Amino acid sequence: MNIHEYQAKELLRAAGAPVGDGRVVLRAEEAKTAAGQIDGPIWVVKAQIHAGGRGKGHFKEADAGEKGGVRLARSVEEAEMEARRMLGRTLVTIQTGEAGKQVNRVYIEDGADIARELYLAILVDRGTSRISFVCSTEGGMDIEEVAHSTPEKILTLTIDPATGYQPYHGRRIAYALKLEGAQVKQCVSLMGTLYKLFVSKDMEMLEINPLIVTKDGKLHCLDAKVGFDNNALYRHPDIAALADETEVDPKELAAQKFDLNYIALDGDIGCMVNGAGLAMATMDIIKLYGAEPANFLDVGGGATKEKVTEAFKIITSDPNVKGILVNIFGGIMRCDIIAEGILAAVKEVGLQVPLVVRLEGTNVDLGKQIIRDSGLNVIPADDLSDAAQKVVKAVRG
Ligand code: GDP
Ligand code: MG
Repeated sequence: MNIHEYQAKELLRAAGAPVGDGRVVLRAEEAKTAAGQIDGPIWVVKAQIHAGGRGKGHFKEADAGEKGGVRLARSVEEAEMEARRMLGRTLVTIQTGEAGKQVNRVYIEDGADIARELYLAILVDRGTSRISFVCSTEGGMDIEEVAHSTPEKILTLTIDPATGYQPYHGRRIAYALKLEGAQVKQCVSLMGTLYKLFVSKDMEMLEINPLIVTKDGKLHCLDAKVGFDNNALYRHPDIAALADETEVDPKELAAQKFDLNYIALDGDIGCMVNGAGLAMATMDIIKLYGAEPANFLDVGGGATKEKVTEAFKIITSDPNVKGILVNIFGGIMRCDIIAEGILAAVKEVGLQVPLVVRLEGTNVDLGKQIIRDSGLNVIPADDLSDAAQKVVKAVRG
């Protein structure tokens, strides 16, 4: 689960990390008052969307030369004007994809005086199964480019869970970031604060880009991007309450409600599968035959008629879907029951695209018979390979 920058900064502030004073507003009319509560003389107005790259992003239907989603204002009136220009519009950044994201909130913050922009992240490193710090002197808006062309400018420091964070980790980060004097001490303490916050809140990622050195020589978190481990949310109701449903794909939201594991992807073949392993194999074999899956969808072990119907609704609500492959193994659930569930779902939802069904397991012959006898335009398949080829052929012709 992701949260907005302003929410991440509230967590940082509560933990004692240095962040600016700011207010979030949902309506432009509130912006002037909000800015008035913050010391000037410079304010920053920042679009709040669950994506980075806002500074370099652009609004849809922007005038030539119009700035992106992070703007400086020199008066409270100007802050209100910038808020008005952003709210309700769609911001496109390197991380949103072409569709962009609608800006429903802006954050107004006291402007910082920047001497240097650094990069800092804490993440769960899949390679080592440990928490790592990632840092670089080349912070700011082009970190992807740094990682790509000058990876030697990025330091990764893995923390042994047996010792946890130690001051020497902080000193190594400070030297890598070319910090001096009192900044080293501040860095050691700040890294400890961030590590503790990361672990205690079950974060997956905490990215401060940029972490700045201000003109008066202090470290300050200018941006904050945080993601949490969904599997641990149950023990953090305070974090779960920060969810902004307008930021989540409505299909993924619907899937959550019906306990379906659904992830939207870019391809055009919708998949409905039971079991995560079989779902992965199904996606692989679709790719093998030259097409791309439109989603990952695991309906789970107890694939009831209701679940199958909801899954169909979600898959067919994706306009990219040009064909559907149902690949279900009837183990505990019998294939004839699943076949009936599929037919009921098709009748309820209606089907505009070709549907290939591959069933295997208990009562498979009866299941196939039910589908054949249904009179619906369903293409039966015998095995995984046959099913994938049939759906790719149905879509590609
Ligand atoms: P992002 O583009 O979504 O990563 O948004 P950031 O919060 O990182 O802001 C982008 C850039 O705007 C930063 O790298 C800074 O260069 C600039 N910026 C953000 N806040 C301030 C500020 O308070 N003062 C100044 N001078 N620049 C800022
Ligand atoms: Mg940033």
